[in-house]
Amino acid sequence: MTAFEYVRPDDVAGAVTMVSADPAAAYLAGGTTQLDLLLKDGVVRSDRLVDIGRLPLRGITPGDESLRVGALTTMEEMAADPLVARRLPFVREALLAGASPQLRNMATIGGNLLQRTRCRYFRDPAVAACNKRSPGSGCAAVSGLARMHAILGASPNCIALHASDLCVPLVALDTDVHVRGTDGRRDVPLTEFYLPSGDRPEVEHVLAHGELITHVEVPLLPAGARSGYLKVRDRSSYEFALTSAAAALRIEEGTIVWARLALGGVATIPWRAREAETVLTGAPATRETFRAAAEAAIRDPFTVPGTAFKVELAKRTIVRVLRDVSGTPR
Ligand SMILES: Cc1cc2nc3c(=O)[nH]c(=O)nc-3n(C[C@H](O)[C@H](O)[C@H](O)COP(=O)(O)OP(=O)(O)OC[C@H]3O[C@@H](n4cnc5c(N)ncnc54)[C@H](O)[C@@H]3O)c2cc1C
Ligand code: SF4
Repeated sequence: MTAFEYVRPDDVAGAVTMVSADPAAAYLAGGTTQLDLLLKDGVVRSDRLVDIGRLPLRGITPGDESLRVGALTTMEEMAADPLVARRLPFVREALLAGASPQLRNMATIGGNLLQRTRCRYFRDPAVAACNKRSPGSGCAAVSGLARMHAILGASPNCIALHASDLCVPLVALDTDVHVRGTDGRRDVPLTEFYLPSGDRPEVEHVLAHGELITHVEVPLLPAGARSGYLKVRDRSSYEFALTSAAAALRIEEGTIVWARLALGGVATIPWRAREAETVLTGAPATRETFRAAAEAAIRDPFTVPGTAFKVELAKRTIVRVLRDVSGTPR
Protein backbone atom coordinates (compact mmCIF):
# COMPACT_ATOMS: atom_id res chain seq x y z
CA MET A 1 0.00 0.00 0.00
CA THR A 2 1.29 3.45 -0.86
CA ALA A 3 1.11 6.23 1.74
CA PHE A 4 -0.91 9.34 0.94
CA GLU A 5 -2.01 12.50 2.68
CA TYR A 6 -5.74 12.85 3.44
CA VAL A 7 -7.37 16.28 3.63
CA ARG A 8 -10.99 17.33 4.00
CA PRO A 9 -11.67 20.97 2.99
CA ASP A 10 -14.93 22.74 3.86
CA ASP A 11 -15.28 24.99 0.84
CA VAL A 12 -15.37 24.45 -2.90
CA ALA A 13 -12.73 27.05 -3.76
CA GLY A 14 -10.29 25.55 -1.25
CA ALA A 15 -10.79 22.03 -2.64
CA VAL A 16 -10.29 23.22 -6.22
CA THR A 17 -7.10 25.06 -5.31
CA MET A 18 -5.70 22.04 -3.45
CA VAL A 19 -6.10 19.66 -6.38
CA SER A 20 -5.34 22.15 -9.17
CA ALA A 21 -2.06 23.20 -7.58
CA ASP A 22 -0.81 19.67 -7.06
CA PRO A 23 -0.46 17.23 -10.00
CA ALA A 24 -0.30 14.33 -7.52
CA ALA A 25 -3.58 15.24 -5.77
CA ALA A 26 -7.02 13.77 -6.56
CA TYR A 27 -10.60 14.17 -5.36
CA LEU A 28 -12.25 11.54 -3.19
CA ALA A 29 -16.07 11.42 -3.08
CA GLY A 30 -17.76 8.14 -2.05
CA GLY A 31 -14.51 6.29 -2.71
CA THR A 32 -16.12 3.27 -4.41
CA THR A 33 -13.93 3.62 -7.50
CA GLN A 34 -11.04 5.68 -6.19
CA LEU A 35 -10.10 3.55 -3.19
CA ASP A 36 -10.21 0.32 -5.23
CA LEU A 37 -7.83 1.76 -7.80
CA LEU A 38 -5.51 3.31 -5.25
CA LEU A 39 -5.45 0.82 -2.39
CA LYS A 40 -6.68 -2.52 -3.75
CA ASP A 41 -5.51 -2.60 -7.37
CA GLY A 42 -2.61 -0.16 -7.03
CA VAL A 43 -3.09 1.19 -10.56
CA VAL A 44 -3.43 4.90 -9.80
CA ARG A 45 -1.14 6.93 -7.63
CA SER A 46 -2.15 9.95 -5.56
CA ASP A 47 0.05 11.49 -2.90
CA ARG A 48 -2.86 13.55 -1.61
CA LEU A 49 -6.55 12.65 -1.48
CA VAL A 50 -8.87 15.63 -1.15
CA ASP A 51 -12.11 14.36 0.40
CA ILE A 52 -14.95 16.51 -0.94
CA GLY A 53 -17.59 14.92 1.31
CA ARG A 54 -18.08 18.09 3.39
CA LEU A 55 -18.66 20.42 0.45
CA PRO A 56 -22.19 21.81 0.03
CA LEU A 57 -22.82 19.89 -3.21
CA ARG A 58 -25.52 17.47 -2.13
CA GLY A 59 -29.21 17.53 -2.98
CA ILE A 60 -31.70 17.91 -5.80
CA THR A 61 -33.29 21.22 -6.76
CA PRO A 62 -36.24 21.21 -9.17
CA GLY A 63 -36.47 23.85 -11.89
CA ASP A 64 -39.26 24.46 -14.40
CA GLU A 65 -37.82 22.15 -17.03
CA SER A 66 -34.84 20.49 -15.39
CA LEU A 67 -33.44 19.08 -12.18
CA ARG A 68 -30.22 20.35 -10.68
CA VAL A 69 -28.47 17.44 -9.00
CA GLY A 70 -25.51 18.16 -6.71
CA ALA A 71 -22.36 16.16 -7.46
CA LEU A 72 -22.34 14.67 -3.95
CA THR A 73 -25.91 13.41 -4.11
CA THR A 74 -25.71 9.64 -3.82
CA MET A 75 -27.10 7.29 -6.45
CA GLU A 76 -29.61 5.99 -3.90
CA GLU A 77 -30.78 9.51 -2.99
CA MET A 78 -31.33 10.38 -6.63
CA ALA A 79 -33.22 7.13 -7.25
CA ALA A 80 -35.47 7.87 -4.24
CA ASP A 81 -36.35 11.40 -5.35
CA PRO A 82 -40.10 11.62 -6.18
CA LEU A 83 -39.58 13.97 -9.12
CA VAL A 84 -36.99 11.64 -10.64
CA ALA A 85 -39.47 8.78 -10.27
CA ARG A 86 -42.29 10.79 -11.86
CA ARG A 87 -40.56 12.81 -14.57
CA LEU A 88 -37.41 10.77 -15.28
CA PRO A 89 -38.42 7.15 -14.77
CA PHE A 90 -35.66 5.71 -16.97
CA VAL A 91 -33.04 7.59 -14.93
CA ARG A 92 -34.37 5.94 -11.79
CA GLU A 93 -34.38 2.53 -13.52
CA ALA A 94 -30.75 3.00 -14.59
CA LEU A 95 -29.69 4.05 -11.09
CA LEU A 96 -31.37 1.05 -9.49
CA ALA A 97 -29.85 -1.30 -12.08
CA GLY A 98 -26.35 -0.25 -10.98
CA ALA A 99 -24.08 -1.77 -8.34
CA SER A 100 -25.76 -2.76 -5.02
CA PRO A 101 -27.79 -0.81 -2.43
CA GLN A 102 -24.71 -0.56 -0.17
CA LEU A 103 -22.59 0.85 -2.97
CA ARG A 104 -25.35 3.19 -4.15
CA ASN A 105 -25.55 4.68 -0.67
CA MET A 106 -21.88 5.70 -0.94
CA ALA A 107 -21.46 6.31 -4.66
CA THR A 108 -22.06 9.89 -5.80
CA ILE A 109 -23.38 11.26 -9.08
CA GLY A 110 -20.12 13.14 -9.81
CA GLY A 111 -18.14 9.98 -9.10
CA ASN A 112 -20.43 7.92 -11.31
CA LEU A 113 -19.68 10.17 -14.27
CA LEU A 114 -15.94 9.83 -13.61
CA GLN A 115 -15.81 6.13 -12.73
CA ARG A 116 -12.92 4.35 -14.43
CA THR A 117 -13.20 1.39 -16.75
CA ARG A 118 -13.59 -2.15 -15.42
CA CYS A 119 -11.15 -3.54 -18.05
CA ARG A 120 -9.35 -6.29 -16.14
CA TYR A 121 -6.04 -5.50 -17.85
CA PHE A 122 -6.24 -1.86 -16.79
CA ARG A 123 -6.87 -2.94 -13.21
CA ASP A 124 -3.99 -5.43 -13.09
CA PRO A 125 -0.62 -3.69 -12.78
CA ALA A 126 1.11 -7.00 -13.63
CA VAL A 127 -0.17 -6.57 -17.22
CA ALA A 128 2.33 -4.41 -19.10
CA ALA A 129 0.29 -3.65 -22.25
CA CYS A 130 -2.34 -1.07 -21.39
CA ASN A 131 -2.34 2.21 -23.31
CA LYS A 132 -4.76 3.76 -20.84
CA ARG A 133 -2.55 3.06 -17.81
CA SER A 134 0.77 3.26 -19.58
CA PRO A 135 0.54 5.24 -22.85
CA GLY A 136 2.30 3.59 -25.80
CA SER A 137 2.47 0.14 -24.17
CA GLY A 138 -0.19 -1.54 -26.35
CA CYS A 139 -3.57 -3.08 -25.51
CA ALA A 140 -3.75 -6.53 -23.93
CA ALA A 141 -7.54 -6.70 -24.33
CA VAL A 142 -7.52 -6.57 -28.15
CA SER A 143 -5.92 -10.03 -28.30
CA GLY A 144 -7.03 -11.18 -24.85
CA LEU A 145 -10.27 -11.90 -23.02
CA ALA A 146 -12.57 -9.10 -24.04
CA ARG A 147 -16.15 -10.03 -23.27
CA MET A 148 -16.91 -6.89 -21.19
CA HIS A 149 -15.49 -4.46 -23.75
CA ALA A 150 -16.62 -1.89 -26.28
CA ILE A 151 -17.57 -2.19 -29.96
CA LEU A 152 -18.41 1.49 -30.57
CA GLY A 153 -15.91 4.35 -30.19
CA ALA A 154 -13.25 1.67 -29.85
CA SER A 155 -9.95 1.41 -31.71
CA PRO A 156 -7.01 -1.03 -31.80
CA ASN A 157 -5.47 1.23 -29.14
CA CYS A 158 -8.20 0.64 -26.55
CA ILE A 159 -11.57 -1.11 -26.33
CA ALA A 160 -12.30 -0.23 -22.71
CA LEU A 161 -15.93 0.29 -21.83
CA HIS A 162 -17.50 3.18 -19.97
CA ALA A 163 -19.56 1.05 -17.58
CA SER A 164 -21.96 3.62 -16.13
CA ASP A 165 -25.68 2.88 -16.26
CA LEU A 166 -26.73 6.33 -15.06
CA CYS A 167 -24.87 8.13 -17.84
CA VAL A 168 -26.89 6.34 -20.52
CA PRO A 169 -30.24 8.11 -19.90
CA LEU A 170 -28.37 11.27 -18.87
CA VAL A 171 -26.65 11.47 -22.25
CA ALA A 172 -29.97 10.77 -24.00
CA LEU A 173 -31.49 13.75 -22.18
CA ASP A 174 -28.75 16.28 -23.10
CA THR A 175 -27.64 16.69 -19.51
CA ASP A 176 -25.19 19.51 -18.76
CA VAL A 177 -22.22 19.01 -16.44
CA HIS A 178 -21.30 22.07 -14.36
CA VAL A 179 -17.70 22.34 -13.25
CA ARG A 180 -15.59 24.71 -11.22
CA GLY A 181 -11.87 25.32 -11.78
CA THR A 182 -9.34 27.92 -10.72
CA ASP A 183 -10.45 30.06 -13.71
CA GLY A 184 -14.11 30.00 -12.70
CA ARG A 185 -17.17 27.99 -13.69
CA ARG A 186 -18.17 26.41 -16.97
CA ASP A 187 -20.69 23.90 -18.17
CA VAL A 188 -20.15 21.10 -20.65
CA PRO A 189 -22.86 19.08 -22.41
CA LEU A 190 -22.52 15.43 -21.36
CA THR A 191 -22.54 14.55 -25.08
CA GLU A 192 -19.21 16.44 -25.36
CA PHE A 193 -17.80 15.53 -21.95
CA TYR A 194 -16.14 12.18 -22.86
CA LEU A 195 -13.49 11.51 -25.49
CA PRO A 196 -13.55 8.28 -27.53
CA SER A 197 -10.38 6.20 -27.10
CA GLY A 198 -8.77 7.25 -30.44
CA ASP A 199 -5.00 7.73 -30.28
CA ARG A 200 -4.93 8.74 -26.62
CA PRO A 201 -6.93 6.32 -24.46
CA GLU A 202 -5.42 7.85 -21.31
CA VAL A 203 -7.37 11.07 -21.92
CA GLU A 204 -10.96 10.16 -21.07
CA HIS A 205 -12.80 13.47 -20.69
CA VAL A 206 -12.48 17.21 -21.19
CA LEU A 207 -11.88 18.18 -17.55
CA ALA A 208 -8.54 19.79 -16.69
CA HIS A 209 -6.73 18.48 -13.63
CA GLY A 210 -8.40 20.01 -10.57
CA GLU A 211 -11.71 20.92 -12.21
CA LEU A 212 -14.51 19.85 -9.86
CA ILE A 213 -17.97 18.74 -10.95
CA THR A 214 -20.38 20.77 -8.82
CA HIS A 215 -23.69 19.56 -10.23
CA VAL A 216 -25.47 18.24 -13.28
CA GLU A 217 -28.54 19.84 -14.86
CA VAL A 218 -30.88 17.13 -16.14
CA PRO A 219 -33.72 18.20 -18.50
CA LEU A 220 -37.08 16.68 -17.61
CA LEU A 221 -38.85 14.52 -20.16
CA PRO A 222 -41.46 16.43 -22.19
CA ALA A 223 -45.10 15.90 -21.28
CA GLY A 224 -46.47 12.73 -22.82
CA ALA A 225 -43.08 11.04 -23.29
CA ARG A 226 -42.57 7.49 -22.05
CA SER A 227 -39.17 6.08 -21.20
CA GLY A 228 -37.36 2.87 -20.25
CA TYR A 229 -33.92 1.49 -19.45
CA LEU A 230 -33.03 -2.08 -20.34
CA LYS A 231 -29.84 -3.65 -19.02
CA VAL A 232 -28.75 -7.06 -20.32
CA ARG A 233 -26.22 -8.80 -18.09
CA ASP A 234 -24.92 -12.20 -17.07
CA ARG A 235 -26.87 -12.22 -13.79
CA SER A 236 -29.87 -10.21 -12.73
CA SER A 237 -28.23 -8.01 -10.08
CA TYR A 238 -24.86 -6.64 -9.03
CA GLU A 239 -23.36 -6.99 -12.49
CA PHE A 240 -22.21 -4.62 -15.21
CA ALA A 241 -24.06 -4.44 -18.52
CA LEU A 242 -23.20 -6.54 -21.53
CA THR A 243 -25.49 -4.18 -23.41
CA SER A 244 -27.98 -1.58 -22.30
CA ALA A 245 -30.28 0.97 -23.86
CA ALA A 246 -32.16 4.01 -22.61
CA ALA A 247 -35.08 5.13 -24.75
CA ALA A 248 -37.68 7.87 -24.54
CA LEU A 249 -40.47 8.30 -27.06
CA ARG A 250 -43.46 10.51 -27.61
CA ILE A 251 -45.98 8.87 -29.88
CA GLU A 252 -49.05 10.52 -31.40
CA GLU A 253 -51.62 8.39 -33.21
CA GLY A 254 -49.08 5.66 -33.88
CA THR A 255 -46.33 7.98 -35.15
CA ILE A 256 -43.16 8.72 -33.19
CA VAL A 257 -42.92 12.50 -32.91
CA TRP A 258 -39.96 12.72 -30.51
CA ALA A 259 -37.24 10.15 -29.78
CA ARG A 260 -34.15 9.79 -27.65
CA LEU A 261 -31.90 6.75 -27.60
CA ALA A 262 -28.57 6.06 -25.90
CA LEU A 263 -26.54 2.91 -25.34
CA GLY A 264 -24.44 1.45 -22.55
CA GLY A 265 -22.28 -1.65 -22.27
CA VAL A 266 -21.11 -1.31 -25.87
CA ALA A 267 -19.07 1.88 -26.14
CA THR A 268 -16.00 3.60 -24.79
CA ILE A 269 -18.22 6.51 -23.79
CA PRO A 270 -21.95 6.75 -22.91
CA TRP A 271 -23.24 6.50 -26.48
CA ARG A 272 -25.90 8.76 -27.94
CA ALA A 273 -27.52 7.04 -30.93
CA ARG A 274 -28.44 10.09 -33.01
CA GLU A 275 -28.72 8.25 -36.34
CA ALA A 276 -31.26 5.93 -34.73
CA GLU A 277 -33.21 8.91 -33.39
CA THR A 278 -33.42 10.27 -36.96
CA VAL A 279 -34.79 6.92 -38.17
CA LEU A 280 -37.38 6.88 -35.38
CA THR A 281 -38.64 10.44 -35.65
CA GLY A 282 -41.67 10.70 -37.93
CA ALA A 283 -41.87 6.92 -38.44
CA PRO A 284 -44.64 4.56 -37.33
CA ALA A 285 -44.03 2.82 -33.99
CA THR A 286 -43.57 -0.64 -35.44
CA ARG A 287 -41.14 -3.50 -35.06
CA GLU A 288 -39.73 -2.72 -38.55
CA THR A 289 -38.98 0.87 -37.54
CA PHE A 290 -37.29 -0.29 -34.34
CA ARG A 291 -35.10 -2.79 -36.21
CA ALA A 292 -34.10 -0.07 -38.72
CA ALA A 293 -33.20 2.20 -35.78
CA ALA A 294 -31.09 -0.60 -34.26
CA GLU A 295 -29.23 -1.10 -37.55
CA ALA A 296 -28.53 2.64 -37.70
CA ALA A 297 -27.32 2.69 -34.08
CA ILE A 298 -24.78 -0.13 -34.43
CA ARG A 299 -22.98 1.05 -37.54
CA ASP A 300 -19.28 0.24 -38.19
CA PRO A 301 -18.59 -1.57 -34.92
CA PHE A 302 -14.98 -2.42 -34.06
CA THR A 303 -15.05 -5.98 -32.76
CA VAL A 304 -12.57 -8.57 -31.54
CA PRO A 305 -13.54 -12.26 -31.23
CA GLY A 306 -14.70 -11.82 -27.62
CA THR A 307 -17.01 -8.88 -28.37
CA ALA A 308 -18.48 -9.88 -31.75
CA PHE A 309 -21.63 -11.25 -30.07
CA LYS A 310 -22.48 -7.76 -28.87
CA VAL A 311 -23.39 -6.52 -32.36
CA GLU A 312 -26.59 -8.55 -32.55
CA LEU A 313 -27.23 -8.43 -28.80
CA ALA A 314 -27.11 -4.63 -28.83
CA LYS A 315 -29.53 -4.47 -31.76
CA ARG A 316 -31.97 -6.79 -29.99
CA THR A 317 -31.63 -4.74 -26.81
CA ILE A 318 -32.60 -1.62 -28.73
CA VAL A 319 -35.61 -3.27 -30.41
CA ARG A 320 -36.78 -4.67 -27.07
CA VAL A 321 -36.54 -1.38 -25.17
CA LEU A 322 -38.31 0.49 -27.97
CA ARG A 323 -41.08 -2.10 -28.01
CA ASP A 324 -41.46 -1.92 -24.25
CA VAL A 325 -41.52 1.89 -24.18
CA SER A 326 -43.98 2.16 -27.07
CA GLY A 327 -46.19 -0.65 -25.82
CA THR A 328 -45.89 -2.39 -29.19
CA PRO A 329 -46.90 -6.06 -28.93
CA ARG A 330 -44.11 -8.67 -29.16
C1 LIG B 1 -18.49 -3.60 -7.18
C2 LIG B 1 -18.96 -2.42 -7.97
C3 LIG B 1 -20.04 -2.55 -8.84
C4 LIG B 1 -20.48 -1.45 -9.57
N1 LIG B 1 -21.54 -1.60 -10.43
C5 LIG B 1 -21.95 -0.54 -11.15
C6 LIG B 1 -23.03 -0.67 -12.08
O1 LIG B 1 -23.60 -1.74 -12.25
N2 LIG B 1 -23.41 0.45 -12.75
C7 LIG B 1 -22.80 1.67 -12.60
O2 LIG B 1 -23.20 2.64 -13.22
N3 LIG B 1 -21.76 1.80 -11.75
C8 LIG B 1 -21.33 0.74 -11.04
N4 LIG B 1 -20.28 0.87 -10.20
C9 LIG B 1 -19.54 2.12 -10.21
C10 LIG B 1 -20.04 3.08 -9.15
O3 LIG B 1 -21.27 3.61 -9.56
C11 LIG B 1 -18.97 4.16 -9.04
O4 LIG B 1 -17.85 3.55 -8.42
C12 LIG B 1 -19.43 5.33 -8.22
O5 LIG B 1 -20.53 5.97 -8.80
C13 LIG B 1 -18.30 6.33 -8.07
O6 LIG B 1 -18.74 7.34 -7.18
P1 LIG B 1 -17.89 7.68 -5.89
O7 LIG B 1 -18.59 8.80 -5.23
O8 LIG B 1 -17.64 6.47 -5.06
O9 LIG B 1 -16.54 8.19 -6.59
P2 LIG B 1 -15.03 8.05 -6.11
O10 LIG B 1 -14.62 6.62 -6.14
O11 LIG B 1 -14.78 8.81 -4.86
O12 LIG B 1 -14.34 8.84 -7.31
C14 LIG B 1 -14.35 8.31 -8.63
C15 LIG B 1 -13.53 9.25 -9.53
O13 LIG B 1 -14.23 10.47 -9.71
C16 LIG B 1 -13.48 11.58 -9.23
N5 LIG B 1 -14.47 12.46 -8.64
C17 LIG B 1 -15.48 12.09 -7.77
N6 LIG B 1 -16.30 13.13 -7.56
C18 LIG B 1 -15.82 14.16 -8.30
C19 LIG B 1 -16.26 15.51 -8.53
N7 LIG B 1 -17.38 16.00 -7.95
N8 LIG B 1 -15.55 16.28 -9.37
C20 LIG B 1 -14.43 15.81 -9.99
N9 LIG B 1 -13.96 14.55 -9.80
C21 LIG B 1 -14.67 13.74 -8.98
C22 LIG B 1 -12.45 10.99 -8.26
O14 LIG B 1 -11.29 11.78 -8.17
C23 LIG B 1 -12.17 9.65 -8.92
O15 LIG B 1 -11.27 9.81 -9.98
C24 LIG B 1 -19.83 -0.20 -9.43
C25 LIG B 1 -18.78 -0.06 -8.54
C26 LIG B 1 -18.33 -1.15 -7.81
C27 LIG B 1 -17.17 -0.97 -6.88
S1 SF4 C 1 -8.82 -1.98 -23.46
FE1 SF4 C 1 -7.90 -0.02 -22.86
S2 SF4 C 1 -7.86 -0.18 -20.63
FE2 SF4 C 1 -8.05 -2.29 -21.42
S3 SF4 C 1 -5.97 -3.08 -21.74
FE3 SF4 C 1 -6.57 -2.14 -23.64
S4 SF4 C 1 -5.75 -0.07 -23.46
FE4 SF4 C 1 -5.85 -0.88 -21.40
